[in-house]
Amino acid sequence: MLARILDGKTLAERLRAQIAERVAARIAAGKSQPGLATVIVGDDPASQTYVAGKRKASGEAGMRSFGHELPASASQADLLTLLAKLNADPAVHGILVQLPLPTQISAAAVQSAISPDKDVDCLNPINVGLLSQKGREPNFGPGTPAGIMRLIKEAGEPLEGKHAVVLGRSNIVGMPLSLLLTKANATVTVAHSHTQDLPALCRQADVLVAAIGKPQFVRGDWVKPGAIVIDVGINRIEDKSLRRGYRLVGDVAYDEAAEVASAITPVPGGVGPMTIAMLLENTLRAAELADAAS
Ligand code: NDP
Repeated sequence: MLARILDGKTLAERLRAQIAERVAARIAAGKSQPGLATVIVGDDPASQTYVAGKRKASGEAGMRSFGHELPASASQADLLTLLAKLNADPAVHGILVQLPLPTQISAAAVQSAISPDKDVDCLNPINVGLLSQKGREPNFGPGTPAGIMRLIKEAGEPLEGKHAVVLGRSNIVGMPLSLLLTKANATVTVAHSHTQDLPALCRQADVLVAAIGKPQFVRGDWVKPGAIVIDVGINRIEDKSLRRGYRLVGDVAYDEAAEVASAITPVPGGVGPMTIAMLLENTLRAAELADAAS
């Protein structure tokens, strides 16, 4: 059996069109235009590409996009000063600081400095704390994990009682996703670089999420027949047949896993586009929260 493809690109396009309609409606009703500030420090090419995509997408949704570029030599104080300005600016509803940051800047300090009401990536410890508590919710869902939850929903299998195995425990993917899955009544195992016998663990997963950043690491014979496989990884591997010299692959050996899984996300075109759609949804929500507070 060949797995059903969970098409994040098409789903994200549909969500973005709905967000654009809601943005247009609120502007027509005399409300503020949602604004997203994106901050990039340094000139990492992958980060530049991601941020360019986010800025373009926010413009296409009818939002204001405020781009800020700091040099790789910028100090933590420089960035905190900029964030204080953005926190105070009523035209800015959402703030995103692209990771990774240069070594002289603490990501933790930066994330704590973003107002919880503008924290559209859900990385401020106040929002993360709310995310981790039963019966409470953060102001904004964490982008990539929230996008993954939508994709799992598309697969049409209820999560209640299912065993979800999450490979990776980063603050932006694995850890918050494990909380969302737990809240959705899955039984969750989080694996990381110290986990023993990963293939055996993966074979127990009804839902298998790979977020480790290792190309085609998860093989087809690690996948339980009928499992839902979500591939978060974005890895460049050499491909001399392409002019740019590389192609993108996920953390899962797609062709092998697709033979065994019931549903699988492709790379590219799976989780990546959903992350952007969730960011836009959160920015719109931030504008709505600001309306409610004024
Ligand atoms: P990190 O590097 O922050 O975390 C990687 C995690 O994988 C760590 O928890 C690490 O364990 C674990 N890990 C590493 N090697 C192994 C191994 N051999 N076995 C088991 N676990 C292992 O990565 P991110 O979470 O930021 O990103 C993961 C991937 O997802 C990357 O390819 C990234 O590009 C992609 N990504 C995609 C997004 C999208 O929108 N599609 C968004 C964000 C990321 P330990 O904690 O022990 O070190």
